[in-house]
Amino acid sequence: MKNDKLKIGFYELTGCAGDCLLVTDCEMELIDIFNAVDIQSFAMVMSNNTDGELDLALVEGSVTTEKEIEELKDIRKRAKAVVAFGTCAVLGGVQARFIDPKEWEKNLKIVYGNTEFTHTKPVQSKPIDAFIDVDFYLPGCPVSKEQFLNFFTRILKGNPPEHYPNPVCVTCKYNENDCLLKKGELCLGPLTADGCGSICPNHNIPCNGCWGPVEGANVTSEFYLLKEKGFSVDEIKKKMANFSGTKITDYFQQLDKEPK
Ligand code: SF4
Ligand code: SF4
Repeated sequence: MKNDKLKIGFYELTGCAGDCLLVTDCEMELIDIFNAVDIQSFAMVMSNNTDGELDLALVEGSVTTEKEIEELKDIRKRAKAVVAFGTCAVLGGVQARFIDPKEWEKNLKIVYGNTEFTHTKPVQSKPIDAFIDVDFYLPGCPVSKEQFLNFFTRILKGNPPEHYPNPVCVTCKYNENDCLLKKGELCLGPLTADGCGSICPNHNIPCNGCWGPVEGANVTSEFYLLKEKGFSVDEIKKKMANFSGTKITDYFQQLDKEPK
């Protein structure tokens, strides 16, 4: 019998595996997910993985070794469409927070000393689109169940995935939270893509930006606002770099050159 189901693969590079775990956590929907598509590869839940052609590859994690660069290129060759699945794949993750490559090299030395790498060589963490073309981006640390299921059902029907166009602040306002920024806390809600339901400010915790920058994020404006509120350049830089290091490198490198 002809199998018309979409051939899908889930892949994990460097990260916490939280996005793939999130899929397995769709308990009520899991049987439907596995029935709706032909899952060819999903190391977390299957042992009979194959490495053939795919309609769609969801790649979680950032690229941190030379071996992962090769693996990623091989996935790209085999897949008609590739999805950056979660913030590490989209932006590089917390492991890409070192804006300055020299800082990364220094830290590698502190942790590994003079270790000779034989299996593969580490490289500075980068998002997957630093090495291959990416068709769709699903940010989140991890992605939310709602977001994944929305993406999955749209793809099944042949529709492109929807983006979340608003910053976290919009949902935060709908949720009637007192603004933490106004209370003097370093909240990155204005810069961050929504999708989490403003879960941190709902619990009185400032947003750390784990969904990455919202489209059109005004880094300059938030930077000067935070400075006005008394935060140091270093504090702001570290907080912004936590999840968006690779996206704000140019901004802070430029700032470092400006006369103080
Ligand atoms: S608490 Fe944070 S997310 Fe909420 S409105 Fe204020 S700045 Fe935005
Ligand atoms: S509020 Fe900010 S840090 Fe918290 S989950 Fe949402 S995007 Fe991530």
